[in-house]
Amino acid sequence: MPELPEVETVARDLQHSVAGATIVHAHVSWDRTIRHPQPPERFVAEIEGATILRVSRRAKTVLLHLEDGRVMTVALRMTGALIVAAADADPDPYVRVVFSLADGRQLRYRDVRKFGRIGLWPGGGLRSVGAGRGSRSRKVAEGARRYRIGEVFSGHGPEPLSRTFTVGRLAERLGRRSARLKSLLLDQAFIAGVGNIYADEALWRARLHPLRRADGLADGEVRRLHRAVRQVLREAIANRGSSLRDYVGADGEPGANAERLAVYRRTEQPCLRCGTRIERIVVGQRSTHFCPRCQPLPVASVPS
Ligand SMILES: [Zn+2]
Repeated sequence: MPELPEVETVARDLQHSVAGATIVHAHVSWDRTIRHPQPPERFVAEIEGATILRVSRRAKTVLLHLEDGRVMTVALRMTGALIVAAADADPDPYVRVVFSLADGRQLRYRDVRKFGRIGLWPGGGLRSVGAGRGSRSRKVAEGARRYRIGEVFSGHGPEPLSRTFTVGRLAERLGRRSARLKSLLLDQAFIAGVGNIYADEALWRARLHPLRRADGLADGEVRRLHRAVRQVLREAIANRGSSLRDYVGADGEPGANAERLAVYRRTEQPCLRCGTRIERIVVGQRSTHFCPRCQPLPVASVPS
């Protein structure tokens, strides 16, 4: 599943390739890909004629900001991809939505497993999202009224690469939680954009056991975790993301970060730091990889 670095790569690619482009027509071949507005015919009617001003990312979602202030969200989920193609490019049975651009190209939404969702929302409220202290999750009820884009993300935690995500802020958030570090890093209400790959990588780099209790970290450990989370995400963005299965950038090419992963899916292989064999455990139903020597579990932290 694409995480923050992969989605950031797609957004940056699209900023280069489709910012300024106008969508003249949309064709939806799998209705459930369209989350909002309903029905999909309404989405098609509302997106036609829209010009893409710029492309960004929030959490694991691509945001296409339209010139009129509205925002189109593309959540890639498991296998979604946004690919720019020539109008005469070969047809692809896995393309669920085609946006025909005024310059003759197509922006194709391809999704083998069909879990991804596309929405079109009124603008506003995005800046304040994740800035507050609350991590209370609020479900967006479709249809009742027009939710602004900010409200779509109201249940998400802070962006780990933002300037406001400081060590102090992380310490304050960790201190209020008794959850295990691995589970907390995967919790999108706690921190946005981190998934299974980068949670394991960050914990290895910070030399913290995945089952450590969040409120049991010493100040130095919080600083290590803060630095590690940001480093692994930044490095993965620089490598255009990790392609383990279906992820590709908007150029259709896989990212180069997979071979640089230190622990993720390296069970039984030697730790790059100490040579000990990497172990795999299951935390909250997710595969978790760590070095038992570099990432010891203090007795006080052993789950009862
Ligand atoms: Zn080690």
